[in-house]
Amino acid sequence: MHSSMRRRQCGDLIYYTCDRLPVRHAFTTKSGGVSHGDCESLNFGFNRGDDPENVRRNYQILADTLHIPFERFTLTQQVHESRVQIVEETDVGIGLHQPMDWKVDGLVTALPDTPIAGFYADCVVTLFYDPTAKVCAVCHSGWRGTAQEIAGKTVEKMVSLGACRETTIAVIGPSICQDCFETDADVPDAMRAQMGERVAPFIQTRGKKYHVDLQGIQQMTLQSVGLAPENIINSGLCTKCMSDVFWSHRATNGHRGVQAGVICL
Ligand SMILES: [Zn+2]
Repeated sequence: MHSSMRRRQCGDLIYYTCDRLPVRHAFTTKSGGVSHGDCESLNFGFNRGDDPENVRRNYQILADTLHIPFERFTLTQQVHESRVQIVEETDVGIGLHQPMDWKVDGLVTALPDTPIAGFYADCVVTLFYDPTAKVCAVCHSGWRGTAQEIAGKTVEKMVSLGACRETTIAVIGPSICQDCFETDADVPDAMRAQMGERVAPFIQTRGKKYHVDLQGIQQMTLQSVGLAPENIINSGLCTKCMSDVFWSHRATNGHRGVQAGVICL
């Protein structure tokens, strides 16, 4: 784990934060909610077979813990693409208090008291904050979105709201590590087709299988759009290595809830 990451516990609720982000934020674990069965207990997904009332209750518990407004929670939809949306006042609450009428894996906002969330259970959720312009962002990517460089598109969208590349901080959350992310040739082939040979250092061949370093590729993308290396923090947490703490899609064969990465100005 990166030295700036902290494990926090409030009652039964366990989550991780990063000292480099001086705003309210969290990477949740599976502990501290009210859901049952495969989703026991802190599930944030409405598409996991969970009781929607329990999911809403989990958002309320997290909001109370972080002192963020439940009624302004705004969610990504996560379609494994690379669209990034600026959250305006009329968008506040989409996904929780308004219908999910966008298909966006990334959200950017300058609105205060507006928690924005992305979701993970092996995928990469990255939280962003620029202390100069007071803009924050979240993006979700599995290998498809990582290859489409959604992290870079998120930074560009922040810049369009006045953010400064030199001061923007990005924290790569708990996600599947290279050792755990074993694939067939289709994944590295598709990533090479999208990003070229610069992904080669992040792909290892082991026998007939491949191991792809999604966190490393995310770091490279963030550097390539102008973030300072010291402002890119890789949490170093793996959802599958730590499947006692986190839901991992691979560790559970898909029988799982989903964690949230949340940030709020
Ligand atoms: Zn791992």
